[in-house]
Amino acid sequence: MNKFNNLGLSNDLVSLLSELGYKEPTKIQSLSIPLALMGRDILGCAQTGTGKTASFVLPIIEILNNQKSKARMPRSLILTPTRELAEQISIYFKKILKYNKLNFCLLIGGTALTDQDKLLNKGVDILIATPGRLIDHINRGNILFNDLKILVIDEADRMLDMGFIPDIDQISENLPKIRQTLFFSATLNKEILNIGKRFVINPKLIEVSPPSSTSNTIDQYIIKCNNENKLNTLENILSNIETKNTVIFCNKKKDIGSLYSDLKRKNISSIIFHGDLLQSKRQEALNEFKNGNNKILIASDVAGRGIDIENISHVINFDVPINPEDYVHRIGRTGRAGKNGTAITFVLKKDTKYLQEIEKLIKKKIKILNINLEEKILKDYEFDTLYESNQIPNFLKR
Ligand code: ADP
Ligand code: MG
Repeated sequence: MNKFNNLGLSNDLVSLLSELGYKEPTKIQSLSIPLALMGRDILGCAQTGTGKTASFVLPIIEILNNQKSKARMPRSLILTPTRELAEQISIYFKKILKYNKLNFCLLIGGTALTDQDKLLNKGVDILIATPGRLIDHINRGNILFNDLKILVIDEADRMLDMGFIPDIDQISENLPKIRQTLFFSATLNKEILNIGKRFVINPKLIEVSPPSSTSNTIDQYIIKCNNENKLNTLENILSNIETKNTVIFCNKKKDIGSLYSDLKRKNISSIIFHGDLLQSKRQEALNEFKNGNNKILIASDVAGRGIDIENISHVINFDVPINPEDYVHRIGRTGRAGKNGTAITFVLKKDTKYLQEIEKLIKKKIKILNINLEEKILKDYEFDTLYESNQIPNFLKR
């Protein structure tokens, strides 16, 4: 028997999940779906890549089923920090709504307002939006929230931080007070839960594993380097280890461009992805990467949240992220849905304090990898004394 049967979902939905290859629910799904179906508010925290999306998508479909939304009056709203994540969730809905009459609309910046307008006018059940574009539509009087039943805030801690909270407050003023609210993230700390309190009523806190913990499916390493050998170290890794797709994160957008050129000079081709690119370029870059046309994506934290690409085998932090939560999300682009992945972070002397903050947050000491830069062969890589001989990291096994 399919274990999704026990969660209160309809038979139709359960058989569709088998079609998608979902054999059994993940922990966050087992815990949150029944509560969401009962109408409870949820603060859900589970590691990256453990199926949080389905934890809200499936209940939304069940709850909204059998009714239609009136023109301009959506019954569910999902907010995400990036356009790409919103789009990914809309693609997920498309798959799951295959045999269903519910419809959805994607409201993201960098795309035409008029097309979105037309759709809204026809009546949409589910809105998936980034805050800026949603506010544009609200200001133009395009949306009425009187019928809103469910609000989802994905990557909730990011959405409630300083950058987004004014937008979220403004949006929330337009929503009915009586509604169901679901928050999800891999990193929900006490401070954020406190800020989140004003959006929820008697919420159920679901924590599958310690907040901000990293998945055991990700092998994590640091490499100590300096400004002079950082690029060579990267070249060495990229040309010597067997990877499927690799995401390289930089802290600053301008460094993404220079790293791209530096690698190009070394005959390593890559794609760049950050928030200052035109939306069409952002989409093109991500598609090229997803299709495997190029196996290296150099990205900013815009790619750090929620993006689910199956073949990412390696994440390299060319810079240590300043915000320790960003580390959890960046490396969480690999090792998803039970697959294995490797994360390597380059650490300069001046980054030591940021590294310590990361290790404090994830409650793990990250292993140090020593690399012999003179000899560009892997067997000459030496390991820190932390290693036992039976602990040779997977990515070095050819
Ligand atoms: P999260 O939001 O927790 O980071 P996602 O919702 O993006 O994770 O899911 C990660 C991957 O796991 C997706 O590719 C998704 O299709 C897959 N997945 C989710 N739930 C299941 C399940 N029950 N069985 C198998 N795969 C699943
Ligand atoms: Mg997610």
